[in-house]
Amino acid sequence: MDFDDTPEEALWRTSVRDFIGAHGDELPGGYERYVDREEKVVQRKRWQRLLYEAGFVGVTWPREYGGRDGTPMQQAIVTQELAKVGAATLINGIGLGMAGPTLIAHGSEAQKRRHLLPLLRADEIWCQLFSEPAAGSDLAGVTMRAIRDGDGWRVRGQKVWTSGAHYADFGILVARTDPTLPKHAGLSYFIVDMHVPGVTVRPLRQMSGDAAFNEVFFDDSPIPMENLVGEVNGGWRVAITTLMNERLMIGGGGADLGIGVEELLKHAAPHLSDLTPERRALVRQELGQCYIEALACRLSGYRRLTGLSHGQIPGPEASAGKLAGVALARQIADLGVRLLGDDALFAGDARGDRHWQYVMSSSPGLAIAGGTNEILKNIIGERVLGLPAEPRLDKGVPFDATARQRVEAAR
Ligand SMILES: Cc1cc2nc3c(=O)[nH]c(=O)nc-3n(C[C@H](O)[C@H](O)[C@H](O)COP(=O)(O)OP(=O)(O)OC[C@H]3O[C@@H](n4cnc5c(N)ncnc54)[C@H](O)[C@@H]3O)c2cc1C
Repeated sequence: MDFDDTPEEALWRTSVRDFIGAHGDELPGGYERYVDREEKVVQRKRWQRLLYEAGFVGVTWPREYGGRDGTPMQQAIVTQELAKVGAATLINGIGLGMAGPTLIAHGSEAQKRRHLLPLLRADEIWCQLFSEPAAGSDLAGVTMRAIRDGDGWRVRGQKVWTSGAHYADFGILVARTDPTLPKHAGLSYFIVDMHVPGVTVRPLRQMSGDAAFNEVFFDDSPIPMENLVGEVNGGWRVAITTLMNERLMIGGGGADLGIGVEELLKHAAPHLSDLTPERRALVRQELGQCYIEALACRLSGYRRLTGLSHGQIPGPEASAGKLAGVALARQIADLGVRLLGDDALFAGDARGDRHWQYVMSSSPGLAIAGGTNEILKNIIGERVLGLPAEPRLDKGVPFDATARQRVEAAR
């Protein structure tokens, strides 16, 4: 594992810091991971574009599609430096972390030329249309149909929990194109224009107060043939690329999820003197535990990055990284709010937002998004510990003959 920047990386870090220092006024701060106000969308699109023009977005992407042919470590340095100043995550996170890498791996030349540059510049925002009311962890069980129509397809059905669909221009979508094949074999992967007729986006409000994700309904919405990614009925292979990138994005590089431990320590300092000696001792222990775990998460992240830099393909360690990072984020947010005591009902910070409360109420979602804790433990159990795989009763059975489909058909 390499801990220190190489001389080139140190130079790169300085250039990122200089850029951030020079553009502090433009920096979208706070801990809102998602956006439901128009002016925030505009501000964050402008910020991503500025960062792109400075060469700090899509660093590892091929130069011919707008990237820099850089290293994963360079991209991680940008993420680290932005996190240090409390910058909000980039608005096109799903495009950058999932849709883009999937198009680079499986898209046609025309798709890459059409979509990658506007995605990097945040001129076009992307969302992920995978989950359905009855298909989340069991993603291959999606029932939404895509039916051939002339030169293209028409899609009908519902997606749910679609982050950012309310301001997205395009989505990556998995739909069933042949229900007579076993469930993984009858899926295709599409690019969907969110502005075509028949697309309805309805916000879902979360306990954090944000309406960051949505239900999305498709009523015979058209998809042209050129928006198919990969082969007809070959969508599962493409979707796996998206999911691997998603896990890597959330838990891969050791970046803090939620609020960093240094900020917790700063936040805790003035509160410690208000506590009884017994309580203070307990809180200090909790702070120490958070610090140890934060260090362990970061160092494991650096090890994964070192592997990536040496050309290794990410494996189940990205799942372990997400599991540990989410647990820590929840622990930090919870302790931060407890330290506020009764003030938690009212307190804001110097920037006027209630970020401890916000992060505490939004962090449970992290344990669900991008693979639930239980699913990640299944992956670790099977692929790291070598435990027996879960029984898969529908393996090889045509999708329209599976038990659930038979029950639904009988209704
Ligand atoms: C903040 C947030 C943002 C999201 N954004 C998006 C998005 O942009 N696009 C998108 O497509 N989806 C998105 N999702 C949806 C997310 O991918 C799903 O919620 C997730 O995959 C779980 O699916 P589910 O909600 O249907 O729960 P289910 O799969 O129904 O799971 C319910 C419970 O059963 C457990 N469980 C299920 N199967 C197993 C098993 N085999 N073994 C053990 N336990 C199991 C789960 O762990 C969970 O506790 C988002 C979710 C959240 C919370």
